[in-house]
Amino acid sequence: MKTLKVIGARVHNLKNITVEMPREKLVVITGLSGSGKSSLAFDTIFAEGQRRYVESLSAYARQFLGRMEKPDVDAIEGLSPAVSIDQKGASHNPRSTVGTVTEIYDYLRLLFARAGTPHCPICGREVTRQSAQEIVDAIRRLPEGSRVLILAPVVRGRKGTHQNVLEEIRKSGFTRARVDGVVYDLETDEISLDRYKQHTIEAVVDRLVIRTPADPQEEADFLARLTDSVETALKFGDGYLTVHRLPDRDAEGDKGEDLFFSEHLACPEHGVSVPELEPRLFSFNTPYGACPVCQGLGFTQKIDPELLIPDPSLSLAEGAIAAKEWTPNAIRGGFYWDRLVAVAKAYGIDLHKPVKDLPKEHLDIILYGTQGERVPMKSRRRHTIRYKQFEGIIPNLERRYRETPSEHMRARIESFMSKKPCPACHGARLRPEALAVTVAGVNIVEVTSWPVSRTLQWVKWLGDDLTPPPPREAGEG
Ligand SMILES: [Zn+2]
Ligand SMILES: [Zn+2]
Repeated sequence: MKTLKVIGARVHNLKNITVEMPREKLVVITGLSGSGKSSLAFDTIFAEGQRRYVESLSAYARQFLGRMEKPDVDAIEGLSPAVSIDQKGASHNPRSTVGTVTEIYDYLRLLFARAGTPHCPICGREVTRQSAQEIVDAIRRLPEGSRVLILAPVVRGRKGTHQNVLEEIRKSGFTRARVDGVVYDLETDEISLDRYKQHTIEAVVDRLVIRTPADPQEEADFLARLTDSVETALKFGDGYLTVHRLPDRDAEGDKGEDLFFSEHLACPEHGVSVPELEPRLFSFNTPYGACPVCQGLGFTQKIDPELLIPDPSLSLAEGAIAAKEWTPNAIRGGFYWDRLVAVAKAYGIDLHKPVKDLPKEHLDIILYGTQGERVPMKSRRRHTIRYKQFEGIIPNLERRYRETPSEHMRARIESFMSKKPCPACHGARLRPEALAVTVAGVNIVEVTSWPVSRTLQWVKWLGDDLTPPPPREAGEG
């Protein structure tokens, strides 16, 4: 088929139109604002192409993608699977990139939710659930003769004296506890902890020597005791268990080690639990997936005093503040300027002095507000005096930036803002738990950073087998 034919489109303001356009050509749709260009391109052609593609997927895959409505059109002929790259300017979502507005990212999210391996975002260790039986087996695999402590973690890196915790451990029938790595006798040792420091407390559930007795009865007894201790520790430790292997006296330099286990999908050492892997975890447009520091933007955006006051040799009365409402020549009646005058009066701030010569505390009041202190302000309508706090120009602009429905207003306030890379995600935009999920060793952000050809190659290779490729030979390109 050489053409794409749309017959009887009635989406939004399209009046039952029929058009034919060449395929495999760059086609431009032009027209007056409101004439229905996007209704035709996005809401009819793309919507139907996308819908047909999704319909072709399995029922299982479809449930993650949501139902798509058929656009109001009689027929579309010659249509291929469609990808849309959004209109520039029409919707200004600072989170969108080509990789994300095309629907490819939706399928990557699905892939990572189904085939991803979660890791602890702190230590990078693979996070798995282990049953009590699996934990018993792992302990039995320790070298013959290993002396071990079975520990139930109760407090992990929390400040406090924790006397009630220690008391609870004692009351529960345990005679020893390990506190910050040192084992204490709960009956005889005085344990005083610094209230302002972080502590880790584990109940000592059992002390064992790993062995495989030849006698079947002895072996059964040993196994029963180990199983019992593991179950007790998991119960007391809320599903977490630590095994401390004491140093081997015969091996020089051996310092022993801690082994961590958990019944939960959580890091057994750091207790960071990994949320269930589902597509929304990999979306920076939702609170489930977005980096909590930058809300999924990848950068932090704040009012920059240098952009707000580009020329500090001007005074406030001369219009030093670049946001025009905070100047005497404000267009809309001077509501903000009046506030500034009231605050200046209350604190003796000179409105006619160049901003660079104002004392820092005066400039701080202007920029960051009165911090709860109320100052007399004239109410405009009734000519009465009211005592009000002054919010400060910067918090005011940042609040209006968040709250305004107006794109125009947002763009204007944005011109006083500077962007800094997010200190938490360094631009990756996802929460740490999402970034720590890998498919064949790479996370979703790495995949999206690749050129499309490499991503395609990777996906093809995954399609064959979900095991990693052989390591590259040295010298290979
Ligand atoms: Zn960890
Ligand atoms: Zn971030």
